[in-house]
Amino acid sequence: MSDWLKILQTCGTCTENEPLSGHTTLGVGGPARWFFRPDNQDALCAAMLCIPADIPLLPLGRGSNLLPPDSGFPGVVLDLSSLNHIQVNGTILSAECGVRMSRVSRICADHGLTGLEFMATVPGDIGGGVAMNAGAFGQQIADCLTRIHVVRRDGEKQELQAAELEMAYRHTSLPYGSLVVSAEFHLQEDDGETVRERIRQMRTTRGRTQPLELPNCGSVFKNPDGDHAARLIEAAGLKGHRIGGASISAKHANFIVNEDSASSSDVLALIQLAQKTVEKKFGVRLEPEVRMLGEPA
Ligand SMILES: Cc1cc2nc3c(=O)[nH]c(=O)nc-3n(C[C@H](O)[C@H](O)[C@H](O)COP(=O)(O)OP(=O)(O)OC[C@H]3O[C@@H](n4cnc5c(N)ncnc54)[C@H](O)[C@@H]3O)c2cc1C
Repeated sequence: MSDWLKILQTCGTCTENEPLSGHTTLGVGGPARWFFRPDNQDALCAAMLCIPADIPLLPLGRGSNLLPPDSGFPGVVLDLSSLNHIQVNGTILSAECGVRMSRVSRICADHGLTGLEFMATVPGDIGGGVAMNAGAFGQQIADCLTRIHVVRRDGEKQELQAAELEMAYRHTSLPYGSLVVSAEFHLQEDDGETVRERIRQMRTTRGRTQPLELPNCGSVFKNPDGDHAARLIEAAGLKGHRIGGASISAKHANFIVNEDSASSSDVLALIQLAQKTVEKKFGVRLEPEVRMLGEPA
């Protein structure tokens, strides 16, 4: 065993050839060469220092916006779910990257804080949420994020102000190779029961409009300016279209669902078909929101 792998074993748990299909909400993806879960932030810093620079790294939250290829990932997948401490001080909420966004929304309601209700409907973690600038129902992370801490590829921690992150629609600029380890939000006071009621309404709307009964990765494409990806895909006649075990949802055309043991290639083929057909019919190039690893689309 290489020296760096021996050191990694002392910083957390590390397994080999872990199928990523068990770590994505779509239920697809081949094996990670190494799958590492650090014990805490210090262990993560030590791990980053010892992993050779030519080994690719992939930070993983809940895999709710990820499409890894069937061939898997040839480096170290960093599962950051054990970094899950959260605290509230007045209107300031601080959370480590592995805290589930649904937990944040619950805690906000308990403390009578508004601004992050949408998180109840997004099945990811704070780290993935910051990396994607997640948002819904007119709210987004950028609106109340004040600062983050990252661990860089050289194992050093760094504080970054939200204003430095160039956050835009489903976009955050993180320094190359850095991992978000914690985030701080400034929220507004509100009545806890009112916050809870808004969360209930958002959840109800989601259950009515999205195919939550089948494995999926949320919106596959970003909405183009002034339009909706779902409208364009439906108008292109692709709603319900199936390739292998995956199909474009009959309930919401911007969702691809895993109906029956789909592969990443099935999902990718549907993504490419939707892009090609919509561009041919309407002259609009759909840009994927889902993060695809190592595959052009
Ligand atoms: C049913 C459903 C509904 C959804 N609804 C919404 C919605 O309303 N709004 C919305 O914005 N999204 C939505 N999504 C998509 C997804 O939940 C969000 O993009 C979420 O922010 C991803 O978080 P994650 O922890 O699952 O990240 P992952 O999918 O694990 O990772 C996403 C990207 O972030 C990177 N990343 C993850 N953690 C870190 C970290 N700590 N540091 C640096 N980079 C990191 C990954 O490498 C990857 O590139 C939905 C998904 C599903 C399945």
